[in-house]
Amino acid sequence: MSYGDRRKFYTSKLWTKVKNQVWLKQYCLCAICGKPVYVSGISEYIPKDKRRTGIVHHKEHLNDINVFDDNIALNEDNLIGVCKECHEKEHHKDISTRNGYSFDEYGNLICH
Ligand SMILES: [Zn+2]
Ligand SMILES: [Zn+2]
Repeated sequence: MSYGDRRKFYTSKLWTKVKNQVWLKQYCLCAICGKPVYVSGISEYIPKDKRRTGIVHHKEHLNDINVFDDNIALNEDNLIGVCKECHEKEHHKDISTRNGYSFDEYGNLICH
């Protein structure tokens, strides 16, 4: 198991479907700051300058093991839609982010 498994997960059709459900429920608004986010295929109506990048965050952080556990990876109760800014705060105030990517405590790329 490796980071590749999570990348596969984040690009899977199932994840896209679950993720979009979360955004529809939240009307494409960040659950923390309430600002609208851009979700491909859903929030095209949001003006370009008002769009933030939206990320569906796993409250119980995803790792190489639970990525295969649907009760964690695909459970809407474990998911929360936030904007990129709030997502970074939500994760680690002290982990540096570069080029729009976020890293978990093990230095693995997450949620993108
Ligand atoms: Zn936000
Ligand atoms: Zn996250």
